[in-house]
Amino acid sequence: MEEKDRYFLEMALREAEQVLMENTYPIGAVIVDENDNVISTGRNRVQPQQDATAHAEIKAIRNAGGAILQAKVHREKLSLYTSVEPCPMCTGAILFAHIKKVVRAMNDDIGFGGCRKLRDSSMFDDRFIGATDRGAI
Ligand SMILES: [Zn+2]
Repeated sequence: MEEKDRYFLEMALREAEQVLMENTYPIGAVIVDENDNVISTGRNRVQPQQDATAHAEIKAIRNAGGAILQAKVHREKLSLYTSVEPCPMCTGAILFAHIKKVVRAMNDDIGFGGCRKLRDSSMFDDRFIGATDRGAI
């Protein structure tokens, strides 16, 4: 791991620390541009906001505002640093935000870790049914 990766991971962990007193999972995220400028930060706000989608990575993407779309237009490479492996929702948002690199401090083996579980899972098999899927009505 590069020294700058460690630096931004520690920043994400400091975001996570701020959540500890709010009775929710301590997860923090930081988005950085290719010149190592911090674009935005986010931390888990699910319990304080009573919003199941208020994950740290989603908050960081929302807090980045137009910088996300500008990076896409100008083909800049954004990186996201997060304290824990992103869940499936955040993994999808990261893909839609065209974030090119994700660095995580920890895997999420007991929770809802995203990229690895999406790859290996059958979690969508019974829940999302397409009209043209085999066996669909
Ligand atoms: Zn998430």
